Amino acid sequence: MSKHQLRRLSDAGLVAEAPIASIAMKTSILALAALSLPVAAFAQVPGGGVYKYPAQQMADGAHKGDTIAWDFVEGITTEVGPRQAGTEAEKRGRDWAVNWLKEQGFKNVADEPFMMNTWVPGEVHKAEIISPFPQPLVVQPLGGTPSTGPEGITAEVVEFGSLAALNEAPEGSLKGKIAYVTHAMTPSQDGSHYGYFGGARFVGPGLASQKGAMAIVIKSIGTDQHRNPHTGVIRFPEGVTPIPAGALTLPDAANLERMFDRAEGPVTMKLTLTPEWIGETQSGNVVGEIVGKDPSLPPVLLACHIDSWWNGTGAFDDGAGCGIISAAALHVSHYGQPLRTIRVLMAGAEEVGLHGSVAYSKAHIDEPIAVAYESDFGADRIWRFESNFRETNPELHAKLAASVARFGVANSRIVATGGADINIARDQKTAIIDLQQDGTRYFDLHHTPDDTLDKIDIDQLRQNVAVWTQVTAIVANEPGSIKGE
Ligand SMILES: [Zn+2]
Repeated sequence: MSKHQLRRLSDAGLVAEAPIASIAMKTSILALAALSLPVAAFAQVPGGGVYKYPAQQMADGAHKGDTIAWDFVEGITTEVGPRQAGTEAEKRGRDWAVNWLKEQGFKNVADEPFMMNTWVPGEVHKAEIISPFPQPLVVQPLGGTPSTGPEGITAEVVEFGSLAALNEAPEGSLKGKIAYVTHAMTPSQDGSHYGYFGGARFVGPGLASQKGAMAIVIKSIGTDQHRNPHTGVIRFPEGVTPIPAGALTLPDAANLERMFDRAEGPVTMKLTLTPEWIGETQSGNVVGEIVGKDPSLPPVLLACHIDSWWNGTGAFDDGAGCGIISAAALHVSHYGQPLRTIRVLMAGAEEVGLHGSVAYSKAHIDEPIAVAYESDFGADRIWRFESNFRETNPELHAKLAASVARFGVANSRIVATGGADINIARDQKTAIIDLQQDGTRYFDLHHTPDDTLDKIDIDQLRQNVAVWTQVTAIVANEPGSIKGE
């Protein structure tokens, strides 16, 4: 195919309204027939329209052989590794991403700084049972928790079978004790068990403090049976004294629970965690653009986060996401300049409290965006399409859903609410898309030392990039309001 033909198809071809009998369509079909391209390159959509070749070709090409997303996640995990928010390691990650985006041809690449109060995990992370069955357990601190001091805390552990059970403990009943909270999380494709059971981490430490506990350990919010703790951020409510909080691995938590079953007296633990708050440091949001033909149209915003927890290399969470969004933007641009600007946002300091997302919205609130979507759920395949404009712009919703059906993606009536890094879309009440990923094994790896490159399945990563490319090709070339009027 000549450059000229490609340009012509590209100019005419990213939208689906053209009925099969239209002249434009006939022209394209003839052009394609002359090029011996398979008729299967067209997908029927409701209402009789079809997707023309270029948008499909770029997505199908990504499905077969994308190398861009892998290049990003392989590069940043190898050359930078862990990127704890607000630290020098996160800064190296942002510098790395800035260089990579420039090399790939993104324009207006920048690292937009903001200040944050920064927590670091410290060096000592130890739990040991003193009685009745002395032995070490594997633990790591939860994000944002205070230190026990290097001498540690030794106290009786009180077991709670659920967060609800902890909630029912009488005021003051945990004075001088360490609380232990378990849960019944299992793998789920939509990852919804994180919401059901994550409260043991999100609010358990604050609740334990309110009941008088001097520290808390929880069964990690995860679904694997490796000796890897799952960290993650917690927040103590206003006026509640922060207490040291650690996550035991699932096998260690199971061992502790067997001890409770057998113990005839108290179970005593020594817990030593030495995290630290180091004061105000700088983080930043990395941005870059594929500049559109019509800069007066609001851009399309694709988001991920650049920071990770210290204990893994941030491959699944969220190096992969940053690779996926960048790959989608580039695949679309490689087939011709899109109508709208495509902006990528690699938010800083997401894990510790969405600092980058908040800072980005504050800095850019007066610059309307057309639609936003985020990749922050690992690297596995996309299985469901959701938007928040199914009622207000049913044609576009249907067109997008139909365009990704061939990748095994289901349509949905669920109203998309977007991920952590696109506060700006919620603040501007604009269009949001959720491309839901298979989360069955996400919580085996999430926030653990096991979040490493080898866990990425290249075929699923490519399916993911293909879906992102297809959706981005359509919305970045949509002339009208995406959310509808
Ligand atoms: Zn994440």
